[in-house]
Amino acid sequence: MESLETKKIVPLEKRNQRVVWPHISPYREKNPPMIVESGEGSWIEDSNGNRYLDGMSGLWCVNVGYGREELAKVAYDQMLQIAYTPMTQSHIPAIELAEKINEMLDDDYMIFYSNSGSDANEVAFKIARQYHQQHGDVNRYKVVSRYRAYHGSSMGALAATGQALRKYKYEPLSSGFLHVAPPDNYRKPEGLTVEQYNIQKAKELEDTIIWEQKETVAAVIMEPLITGGGILIPHHTYVQEIERICRRHGLLLIIDEVICGFGRTGKAFGHQHSGIKPDIITMAKGLTSAYLPLSITAVRKDIYEAFKKEEENCHFRHVNTFGGNPAACAVALKNIEIMEREALFERSAKLGRRLLDDLEELKNHPNVGDIRGLGLLAGIEVVEDKVTKEPGSSERVSKLIADCKARGLIIGRNGETVAGQSNILALCPPLSSTDEDMEFIS
Ligand code: PLP
Repeated sequence: MESLETKKIVPLEKRNQRVVWPHISPYREKNPPMIVESGEGSWIEDSNGNRYLDGMSGLWCVNVGYGREELAKVAYDQMLQIAYTPMTQSHIPAIELAEKINEMLDDDYMIFYSNSGSDANEVAFKIARQYHQQHGDVNRYKVVSRYRAYHGSSMGALAATGQALRKYKYEPLSSGFLHVAPPDNYRKPEGLTVEQYNIQKAKELEDTIIWEQKETVAAVIMEPLITGGGILIPHHTYVQEIERICRRHGLLLIIDEVICGFGRTGKAFGHQHSGIKPDIITMAKGLTSAYLPLSITAVRKDIYEAFKKEEENCHFRHVNTFGGNPAACAVALKNIEIMEREALFERSAKLGRRLLDDLEELKNHPNVGDIRGLGLLAGIEVVEDKVTKEPGSSERVSKLIADCKARGLIIGRNGETVAGQSNILALCPPLSSTDEDMEFIS
């Protein structure tokens, strides 16, 4: 053990590398993770005084930007009022937030609180299975998901995830999760319109349900658009068709709004672009703009009926200690209030259109295959060859990201194509970004 004095003279990066295990990143001796010290608006500052525009809103989550005093204040006040209540009981911010979410969804949902997006999806899977059991459909347990989708890091949510590289070293994961290919409009076959191709993809999902024997399938889970797997934006008929398929075969439709929710796509929730009514909706990230951890599994009231029976064991036997923490709920409420007051959903739609316009000229670049986006969420697909659409090499994509960072802009990287390549650059700055911020990005 080093003395306090010795510690002080060792650079922070070194101290960090000795004791803090970074999430998902490979070990990088030469390029250690930066230590972020402060943030204001869309900008963050590291321990060496470098400023960056955070074009990823952290991990797609700081929707209202950094340094919001109101959020800190409301958390402070709530902690003094009542710091903790288990959700076997309830508290005022939990009630008010649940009411607010229902208002935003314009429907009647029961709100189950947890801590993270993964938790919220685990809850959704458990509720879907138990619902069918208590409804007399005792064999329905399978969940259909899509390749390339990310639904979380815990064993069930990872099983639902359709990205092999994230999974194969941890298998076997929870069983009963199936995957089908999502529409990838940039790579659709010649001769089909986007709509025809999307309907074909929905049909493939339906075929999977039928081949698996539909009486064994409990639910479909999907994001309104695949975010982390490459910003794949389906035609709205695809989403509507999936809803119809779920209804036709008695499956629950779980919509993962962990990234798309709270204005990211230019509406309160991503599924509102297609006018569907999901059975279960999961939310996290933008719910509190990540100022405190909180997630929600919103479940339609008629599904909740199956859990209201007085019989033994009909209730949902699930608890987590921190879910629905009063300060986190109070922060979520204030966060939504800020978004409404500053019209950030509308701003997301407006800035998103501007971003796509600004990026338009990049389309002429020989290594830019596609540019797509919805709301303040954009993807640039890097290719080696525009004709063959061969995904951009790892070196090329890494260099682009490093170049942006050297110029003060943090951008993301995702994709997870069949070949395991992450060749899509992601841009998703805070919804509160100023016009000057957008100027800086472009
Ligand atoms: N669902 C989606 C679509 C996500 O992008 C993520 C995280 O990035 C999750 C679920 C899991 O959320 P968390 O990291 O809070 O567990």
